[in-house]
Amino acid sequence: MRSLTSLLLLMLGIMSVAAASGPSGRDSKRDTVQAVVMYGEEVLFDAVAGLTDNQVKDLRDSVLKFHGQSKFSDYLELYISLTSYSEEQLVAYIDSLFETEEVPYALINQINIFLANRPEEMPKVLPKELFIGSVEIPIPAKELYPLWDNTNPNPYPWDLGKEDTVLSILLTDHAQMGEFQLPVVNTLTSKFGWRDGRMHNGIDIDLEVWDPVIAAFPGVVRMARNYGGYGRVVVVRHYNGLETLYAHLHRYKVKEGDKVEAGQVLGLGGSSGNSTGSHLHFEVRFKGKPINPLSFISFDEQALVNDTLVLKRTKHGYISYPKGIIIYTVKKGDNLYEIARLYGTTTYKLAEINGIRRNGYLYVGQRLRVI
Ligand SMILES: [Zn+2]
Repeated sequence: MRSLTSLLLLMLGIMSVAAASGPSGRDSKRDTVQAVVMYGEEVLFDAVAGLTDNQVKDLRDSVLKFHGQSKFSDYLELYISLTSYSEEQLVAYIDSLFETEEVPYALINQINIFLANRPEEMPKVLPKELFIGSVEIPIPAKELYPLWDNTNPNPYPWDLGKEDTVLSILLTDHAQMGEFQLPVVNTLTSKFGWRDGRMHNGIDIDLEVWDPVIAAFPGVVRMARNYGGYGRVVVVRHYNGLETLYAHLHRYKVKEGDKVEAGQVLGLGGSSGNSTGSHLHFEVRFKGKPINPLSFISFDEQALVNDTLVLKRTKHGYISYPKGIIIYTVKKGDNLYEIARLYGTTTYKLAEINGIRRNGYLYVGQRLRVI
């Protein structure tokens, strides 16, 4: 149990990491491998010990009492309301936080820690796998998918990715995969996430009818036909396992089975299907689960944020990260060599990026950056 003094210290802006609570504060029942994707070290409150719902409420009350309303108290308030959300809602919510003016990384980190600590949703091990598909085979990323369907944009079973934990996907390697291209360069009119009470699984980009719509990455056209509300829609499977979808087209410029380059014209924009006004509805999916394109595309710069996309599998889909780092929380009996082996890195590297000695002492609850 925290003392009021330590809560006050937190309020004073000391973003505590492991040191504030020490190893004893850690719940011994959570004796599993924990890895959380973090954006910097900023959290709302101590991540290692974790706080019960009532402790968070106490913290919020103290903050309000002694400091009045602030951004910090607002975030705590938000956090309290979010903990009753389903994981799916939280994933969508995190995505929408990335699109706010001033991205609240501390809140995002805290929600990620919360998600990672939900016992029923904790994977046992989190191997790092970098998937780079072959460009030689006629069906891209065939090893990841059970079928190649020309009639349905999303024909995959719901649990296709259930074995996945954390995946790194190479988005471009300049030689084989080519450069990323924004499908249409125009105004972003709608973002990914909850919009008007329903899930918007992609982004909308304004265009004029007949404007060319180009492929974001190289790949093979899986589908080019009319489908419900999408209207005339093109789906491309890419070599890295992602699929991109381009909806409401006016005309097709490719057919199913065509091999396409990044930047190749797939069709001409329009407003076919369920669309008010001409625009491109653009989706990115992995194993059928939508991921937020803006989590790895800088729309303003018309470029990728990073050449690698990290996908963390949750119960309902994947959380995607542009440029994350993964933090490992040391548990009883761990040693640096085992941690390095688990994440496919070396003890030299771990020591270097964490500023620790290779033969130094690790303590339970210590957080190490592993990637
Ligand atoms: Zn849309």
